Amino acid sequence: MLQTWFQQLEEMYDQMVEWRRHMHQHPELSFQEVETPKMVASILESFGVEVRTNVGGRGVVGTIQGAKPGKTIALRADFDALPIPDEKDVPYKSKVPGVMHACGHDGHTATLLAVAKVLSENRDQLAGKVVLLHQHAEELAPGGAIAMIEDGCLDGVDVVFGTHLTSGMPTGGYGYRSGYLMAAADRFEIKVQGKGGHGASPHQTIDAVAIGAQVINQLQHIVSRQVDPQKSAVLTVGSFHAGNASNVIADSAVMTGTVRTFDEEVRDHIEKEIKVLANGICSAFHATCEVDYGRGYPAVYNHPEETQVFVEAISKNVGKEVLVEMPAMMGSEDFSYYLKEKPGMFFFTGAGNTEIGADFPHHHPKFDFDEKAMVNAGKGLLSLVYQYVSAKEPQVAETR
Ligand code: MN
Repeated sequence: MLQTWFQQLEEMYDQMVEWRRHMHQHPELSFQEVETPKMVASILESFGVEVRTNVGGRGVVGTIQGAKPGKTIALRADFDALPIPDEKDVPYKSKVPGVMHACGHDGHTATLLAVAKVLSENRDQLAGKVVLLHQHAEELAPGGAIAMIEDGCLDGVDVVFGTHLTSGMPTGGYGYRSGYLMAAADRFEIKVQGKGGHGASPHQTIDAVAIGAQVINQLQHIVSRQVDPQKSAVLTVGSFHAGNASNVIADSAVMTGTVRTFDEEVRDHIEKEIKVLANGICSAFHATCEVDYGRGYPAVYNHPEETQVFVEAISKNVGKEVLVEMPAMMGSEDFSYYLKEKPGMFFFTGAGNTEIGADFPHHHPKFDFDEKAMVNAGKGLLSLVYQYVSAKEPQVAETR
C-alpha cells in the first residue's frame, strides 16, 4: 500500500516542480502572504480536501478524513519567503525584487500539496485523519505557528511532524535527532546610562564605556560559571556602541547580543542573570541600566518515541542507509511550538546537489535546492502517515 502511495507521489513530480517554481517566482514575505495561501487553499479544495483559511492570520489548514476512525496526524509545511535578493540565474528566478524563497519553504509547500493529493485519493485506506498545516510566517518572530495553534490548528491532533529541506545534506539522506534538534534563539539589548564629561576629568563623570566593558566581561561568566557544563548555551555580545570622540567620556553605551540555548531552565536562568549582572554592575558604579530581553522561538525538541517511529518507518520503507543522525544545531525554527503542544518530531530532508549548484547555505542569495528532494520529503511524510493512520496493519517492505 505504501509503495503504491510512493509511486503516486513520484508521478506527481512534474506537478510539484511546477507549483514550487510558481511560488519561487512569486515569493511573499512573512505576515504579508496573500497569493500563496490562496493558491494553497484552492489546490487543496480541488482535491476535495476540507479547508480552513486565515488560521491564526494567514495559515491554511486542510483536513483529510479517512474512511475509518483512528488517530489524527498533523503535517506541517511553511510558505513564507525572505527579504533577500534572488541572485540565481535560473528560469524560475524570483520576480519580486529583494524577495526570495531562500530557505526552501516553497519546496515544503509543494511537497505537502502532493502528499495531500496522494492521501485524498486513498482515503479508503486511511483510519483516522490527516491535518495539513500550511503555515505562514516562519521566518519572522513571533512566527505563524503560535498564532495557528491559538486558533485551534492542533485541536484533536495526536501527533505532529514536519520536515525541512536542507542544502547542507546531499539529496537522498534524511537527518534526524532524538531530543533537542535546534536551539532557542533570543536577543538582548543593554543600555548603560552614565554621565558624560571631559576626558580629562573622569571623577566628574560616570563613564559608560568603562562600565559597559565590565558588563560585557562579566556576562561571559554566566555561561562559563553558572550553566551546567553538560548543558550547552551561547551568549554573544555582537555590538557595542558608545562615544564619539577620544577626549570625551561617553554618556551612554548600548550593546546587543544573542543567546542560544536548548534547555528551558538554562534559558530562564540566562535571561534572569543578564538582568541581575547588568543592573548590579551598573549600580555598583553609579550608572543606571535598561535590559531588554526578547525571546525568539523555543528550542525544537523531538520526542523520543515519535523519533523512533520515524527511524523505523524510514528504515523499513525507504532504507536504513539514508538515515543520518545529526548533531543538534544552534539555528531555530518555530516548529518548536507544535512540539510543545503535541508529541512528534521534525526531520531534515537532504536537498543538496553540487552538480546543479544546490550547495549554497540557506538564506544565501544564490540558495537553491535539488527539486528531486521534494519526492523524498514527501515519502518521509507518507511513511509517517502510514505508520499512524493507515487502515491496514503496517506492513514491512522486505527489501528496497
Ligand atoms: Mn526555514
